[in-house]
Amino acid sequence: KISIFWFRRDLRLQDNTGLFYALQQEKNVLPLFIFDRNILDKLEDKTDARVNFIHDQITYLKGELEKKGGSLLVKYGNPLDVYKDLLDEYSVETVYTNRDYEPYARERDQAVEKLLKEKEVEFMTFKDQLIFEPDEIVNGSGEHYKVFTPFSRQWKDKFKELKFDSLSNPSWKNLYNPDKTLEMISLKEMGFATSNVPIPSPETSDKLIKKYDETRNFPAIDGTSRLGIHLRFGTISIRQLAQRAAGLNEIFLNELIWREFYMMILAHNPQVVDKAFKPAYDHIPWRHDEVDFKAWCEGKTGYPIVDAGMRELNETGYMHNRVRMVVASFLTKHLLLDWRWGEAYFAKKLLDFELASNNGGWQWAAGTGTDAQPYFRVFNPTSQMEKFDKNLEYVKKWVPEYGTEKYPKPIVDHKFARQRAIDTYKEALDR
Ligand code: FAD
Repeated sequence: KISIFWFRRDLRLQDNTGLFYALQQEKNVLPLFIFDRNILDKLEDKTDARVNFIHDQITYLKGELEKKGGSLLVKYGNPLDVYKDLLDEYSVETVYTNRDYEPYARERDQAVEKLLKEKEVEFMTFKDQLIFEPDEIVNGSGEHYKVFTPFSRQWKDKFKELKFDSLSNPSWKNLYNPDKTLEMISLKEMGFATSNVPIPSPETSDKLIKKYDETRNFPAIDGTSRLGIHLRFGTISIRQLAQRAAGLNEIFLNELIWREFYMMILAHNPQVVDKAFKPAYDHIPWRHDEVDFKAWCEGKTGYPIVDAGMRELNETGYMHNRVRMVVASFLTKHLLLDWRWGEAYFAKKLLDFELASNNGGWQWAAGTGTDAQPYFRVFNPTSQMEKFDKNLEYVKKWVPEYGTEKYPKPIVDHKFARQRAIDTYKEALDR
């Protein structure tokens, strides 16, 4: 008999809750990863850097587990079908995994759990992705928060009291050692090709975190951690990062709390995936102008900070947070285009794409979200540039033709667009 530890978005061996307990409680643990076709088949870009990143990380984990006397079983398909085959092939006692809170993941896990139960296999899940799960931070009446500040206050109070289990030194001797080397599918066999987009390092210095509050708003400075992709796929531990952050800089810790806030909002309000958090905002008559949308995607709006951000995103899979706010506001307010278009474009391009934070960020900028930017506050892209990229370093890096004849004229006039946005929102909300 074997037990399985199922890796999903926790692709590390250190400080991994479910893996630690599987090895502590079971004798023959076979770790598993499934390249999920329900997700992969929807990706249009066959050189997607995130798929490359996961593939590299899985290859690395397999090698490390083999050095410890075990291995990693890698499958490709629909998870439910994979489990059906697996239960024929192996005699499985328990499946261990870390909990995942996105709507798709929950549905998948429920289906897998049902199948396992039918075969009398236990399914054990653990908290690992978050410090506090969606039900853990509630107000005095037991309700979920809708506003960030009181949520974060509670979060910090509870965090101070928290005792973290020591998960170092898992019992590696309990790994299952298969008779023959397990095969691993290549990127090519899954229909993907190598990407040349570099992945940011999983490390960040104490110095950067300490200075974060001074540097984080300036896109020309490397003043943020770039850990997003590592938090997304669990190649670093949120517990270790949050404990470090708490001792170094509260402003940085707040950002990690925003991540949990939006995960909580999504878990309790799964309708936000395609609807406004505030239903009245679904009455806004978005313009469905493909030409303006294309100009935005390509970074050809004639607003230098917007164009720089979009070009940074297209080239590197990253965009600085300050600029994400500016381009999202520009799309939804200046161009009056549907926030869902922007959200979908970011989802395709961002290395650190996270459904909860992306949806939260877009609904914040569009004014449709919980605790969002009020609709009548319309960022002025020119003053944002003057404030946060005074010397035009960021703009010149990404838009070298800025200031020449070749640079496009603004696709919309700021004053006109601002008024149009306010009037349109007001009319829709007064309905
Ligand atoms: P740092 O500034 O170093 O922050 C550290 C970590 O804290 C981040 O990696 C992230 O996990 C978390 N964090 C920081 N800011 C936020 C925030 N506002 N909301 C939630 N978590 C935060 N973040 C994503 O992780 N994935 C997304 O898909 C995403 N889409 C966004 C879309 C829009 C329109 C906006 C305005 C913001 C979005 N964000 C998203 C939030 C934020 O911009 C990024 O987390 C941040 O820029 C990533 O860079 P970093 O890793 O250097 O972050």
